[in-house]
Amino acid sequence: MKVFKFGGASLKTPERIRHVASIIRSHATSDLLVVVSAMGKTTDLLETLVATNRTPQTMTDARLALKKYHYDIIDALFKDTSFVRAAVDVQLEEIADTLASSLEGDLLYDQVVSKGELISSVILHHYFATEGIKSHWLDARTCISTDSSFREGKVDWTLTATNVQPLVPLLKENIVITQGFIGRTPDGFTTTLGREGSDYTAAIFTSTLGAESLTIWKDVAGVMNADPKRFPSPVVFEELPFKEAAEMTYYGANVIHPKTIKPLANKNIPLLVKNFDDPSLPGTRIHECTVDQLPPLIVFKDNQCLISCKVTDYTFISEEQLSIIFHALSELDIRINLMQNSAISFSFCIDFRESKVIKLIGRLQKRFEVYYNTGLTLITIKNYDEATFDTYRKQPGVMMEQSSRSTLQVLVKTGNP
Ligand code: ASP
Ligand code: MG
Repeated sequence: MKVFKFGGASLKTPERIRHVASIIRSHATSDLLVVVSAMGKTTDLLETLVATNRTPQTMTDARLALKKYHYDIIDALFKDTSFVRAAVDVQLEEIADTLASSLEGDLLYDQVVSKGELISSVILHHYFATEGIKSHWLDARTCISTDSSFREGKVDWTLTATNVQPLVPLLKENIVITQGFIGRTPDGFTTTLGREGSDYTAAIFTSTLGAESLTIWKDVAGVMNADPKRFPSPVVFEELPFKEAAEMTYYGANVIHPKTIKPLANKNIPLLVKNFDDPSLPGTRIHECTVDQLPPLIVFKDNQCLISCKVTDYTFISEEQLSIIFHALSELDIRINLMQNSAISFSFCIDFRESKVIKLIGRLQKRFEVYYNTGLTLITIKNYDEATFDTYRKQPGVMMEQSSRSTLQVLVKTGNP
């Protein structure tokens, strides 16, 4: 049994959806679980809907855009559109009802934003049928059990492993199509697993089902040593050890979601990153292996924020003060990406999520003088050589830097959110 995952970019136009069907047809007709994201930029649109819930005009615009986008896709893919349009309408009505309800905050967010995946999987399921591909539509929430940390649901692995068992006989007969990104709490609310979390969903299914591999279909040739949008000719890896891949995602490489590797590595199941446009390309195989002499891996993480806590009375930074800072970070579930201390101050770099950063600064100000900068980019170079080491350290706007024998990190002012 195999698992395939298709992201929003691979589903954003009717042509691409047709191509998804052709990939599936040429690879497998049963024993395949297909995990899909929302189409194109649907999740962003749904986020706009939630954010503008109280500004009616923007909300109406976003709702119309959402409907038109999916209707256009349906109209291009189906001869008889009424049935599929109606199925999508059900989801759109549920969105409207939820927005009009008394739900709020992250709970509201998850009930609405999760709809993108439900809509895309419904369209694909019907489309597969017209293409002669027999598929079973699965509501992923009946399998992926989480706690109620809305927007970043934590998976209950034991329950999830039990929930997926009925899929085993089903997969012998049919392709199963389901949604990435979404789960359900014990009391029946929908959760999401964090933006771009569909890769993680695919890894959860792969590992709990003990599938032979997970293939993530992407618009790149495979995993590369640098982002092709920033570097003209990066190297595509044929294979990569789990550990290297996990570290790359930790430092911010967005080719795969950071939580994807662990469930696969723990069960020693390979992850294949394949090119969507040209499936004949070899892609990258991430598995247990050793690769000699990896080239420098360069990872950019934008939208960083540097916070400095300064002791006001000329005492030195103490362990007790550090523990106050770490306690606040852990309570707000904020991860440090880089840190450094001096005699009277402690500085650290985190992802800039405005509401969390405001809460954090509010807490820290009770004990420290707090300074912060936004619009920063954290650049990590793993396995650096002399040339990359010099280039990155000498660039303008470096606010903080740190190096070990294998890794250099520089935090630079770029203005990039
Ligand atoms: N649709 C969700 C997002 O855009 C999940 C995913 O694409 O993986 O974040
Ligand atoms: Mg996506």
